Amino acid sequence: MAKLVESVELKTNFYTYEGVVKALNGVSMAVNHRSTFGLVGESGCGKSVMVRSIMRIIQEPGKIESGKVLVFFNEERQDEAVDLLQQSEVYMEHLRGNQISMIFQEPNAALNPILSINDQISESFLIHQRAELREKVIADLTRDINASPSPLKKFQLALFERQTKNPNDPFVKVLSKFPILKRWEKPLYKEATRRSIEILGKLGIANAEQVVTRYPHEISGGMKQRIVIAIALACNPILLIADEPTSNLDVTIQAQILELIKELKEKYISSVLFITHDLGVVAETCDRVGVMYAGNLCEVADVQELFRNPKHPYTFALLTAVPKVEQEGELASIAGSVPNLVDPPSGCRFHPRCQHAMDICKTTLPPTKEIADNHYVACHLYNGASFVRGL
Ligand code: SF4
Ligand code: MG
Repeated sequence: MAKLVESVELKTNFYTYEGVVKALNGVSMAVNHRSTFGLVGESGCGKSVMVRSIMRIIQEPGKIESGKVLVFFNEERQDEAVDLLQQSEVYMEHLRGNQISMIFQEPNAALNPILSINDQISESFLIHQRAELREKVIADLTRDINASPSPLKKFQLALFERQTKNPNDPFVKVLSKFPILKRWEKPLYKEATRRSIEILGKLGIANAEQVVTRYPHEISGGMKQRIVIAIALACNPILLIADEPTSNLDVTIQAQILELIKELKEKYISSVLFITHDLGVVAETCDRVGVMYAGNLCEVADVQELFRNPKHPYTFALLTAVPKVEQEGELASIAGSVPNLVDPPSGCRFHPRCQHAMDICKTTLPPTKEIADNHYVACHLYNGASFVRGL
């Protein structure tokens, strides 16, 4: 499997009044080309910090301290990677929303209440694919003018062509500055609208022409999340990051959105990084899973392997805590509570809650080992002699 995005020993801290929150404690993981990776763990374990660090959108008082975020754009050239942590902010702005898109848990926060759905999806095309839109408009105008010449169309064509030659053409810039003069750009907006309707169609929205004219408060929660997905997809990203995209939706809509993401991944996007605390969602949608606990990755494996053969005591506890249909009596829960990351436990951060904890666990962070083909675990139980105590 070829890697698409890889984090290497990624460390992120937050400098708060209570102290330094060590949110990511050197996390290494990889999302492969054409696959769905699920990152699971309880709230506050660092899943969102992880993806925000990958996208470099950690805000003050947070800081990415060290590590690498490598992107392998070419599947065939695994020796060529770009380290996002070394790139300029301009580079990142281009990358975000263009090659890597993100959808969040709360669609309301992602949508602008005073802009129509069309304006919001079109904006994504206009920002990231302007040159491509312009090419299409020039082709359309040329065809129309050949069929029936019109002075307005000729004028528009001349301006679009000037802009293609030089995006900073001073004459075109002046014309675009004033709303009344900006009307020459209308064909560009029309093309963006056409694409917005087309993308909603791809998302299975039947009356897309009407939906684009509405405002966020006029549509349902499930529809809003679809619009957010449409915005994320507008530029054909190679990686879609979905941070708990269904947790605020009711169960049937949740299932529809998950199905939609799955379908889109097959058809349009290379890979998906799925953040969730729900193991059911992982089983449904992911090929590979990483389990996080208190800023560390404890286990990574293919989804079936992880469910059939969990190795890390925390993964084991998480799986036992999942309610089963036939279950009677009380649900199993994990004893103890998630540690405070200002002063995390020494050694293995899970040791105060682990039934198998040994002396070494209190002092030494367990290294990550490949214990079976593509199955990685960070736990002292799988370290040499103590392996016999395996679960
Ligand atoms: Fe438990 Fe030790 Fe393994 Fe941590 S390293 S999970 S404390 S056995
Ligand atoms: Mg989160």
